[in-house]
Amino acid sequence: MLVSHDPDLPLHLYPPKQPLQVEVLRNERLTPEDSAQDVRHVVIRWPKGAFFFVEGQSVGIAPPGLNSRGRPHPPRLYSVASARDGEDGDGQTLALTVKRYVYADESGQLCQGLSSSLLCDAQPGDLLPMTGPVGRDLLLGAAPQPLILIATGTGIAPFRAFLQQLQRTADPRPVWLFQGAQTHADLLYAAEWQRWQSDAAGRHWRTACSREEALPSGSRRYVQHALADQAEALWPWLVPGAAESQQAQIYLCGLRGMEQGVLEVLGQLAAERGFPADAFVSDLRTTGRLRVEVY
Ligand code: NAP
Repeated sequence: MLVSHDPDLPLHLYPPKQPLQVEVLRNERLTPEDSAQDVRHVVIRWPKGAFFFVEGQSVGIAPPGLNSRGRPHPPRLYSVASARDGEDGDGQTLALTVKRYVYADESGQLCQGLSSSLLCDAQPGDLLPMTGPVGRDLLLGAAPQPLILIATGTGIAPFRAFLQQLQRTADPRPVWLFQGAQTHADLLYAAEWQRWQSDAAGRHWRTACSREEALPSGSRRYVQHALADQAEALWPWLVPGAAESQQAQIYLCGLRGMEQGVLEVLGQLAAERGFPADAFVSDLRTTGRLRVEVY
């Protein structure tokens, strides 16, 4: 597996001025039709040999046309949700996990994000301009250390790529996957995680559904609370001084707000066991054991 400084890491094969034309193969809705969230699993294909990426990287999709300043729209980045051999295992496909972005403009009128609606409305056979790959921070480490993966919403995408790669390479490292969504129906790829968890030992999937579950205080239960609930099971992988092979790599992906919540839980977990919270968290960062991609 590649690491961030590896010269073989594919980067910027297609810059914004020279995108690769890719074809939409499938577009499946992941959330129920009656969910307020329209999230899609969009599979695209390129000519064999024209594109490479590794798990944890992103690609860009730029909508056609010009912005209000007469310039081409910049590409919007999406994490690849497939392992490097491709969504279909053919080396020429990848999947993106795309939520239709809806917002109110200054006049209060509802508008849709250009890139997300381009992808969410894409039909098989459509051609799209793709840039990338980019990203060297969220790569799957080569060492067979345990993984703690923490996602909110569409932030699950790179972890799907990780788990697909571990599965395809028969990598037995233990994994805890924590997933946050508003409702159970909005837990993306839930059926895949159920199968994944029951297929082998050492795989754990825990969820937090903020609009259906509450803390004793009455506030919403978030993914960091699901993490806190597993403190005893996780601590042997977190305790300072544990053998290197036992030290978990922690990855966070999703909403910006989750970062602080997760760091507080990790710090509290350490403090309750006699380790200063700040030093514990900053050590996780400086040693590269904590990787964060939030927006
Ligand atoms: P979402 O559905 O709005 O939220 C997912 C869950 O996170 C909800 O349960 C939400 O709870 C909860 N949440 C809200 N604030 C939180 C906090 N402070 N701590 C912990 N949980 C919190 O998420 P989304 O719209 O899919 O957004 C996902 C984010 O991931 C976006 O920022 C996106 O840019 C980013 N991302 C996307 C990709 C991709 O490839 N598509 C890749 C990487 C990252 P409530 O709403 O009930 O408060």
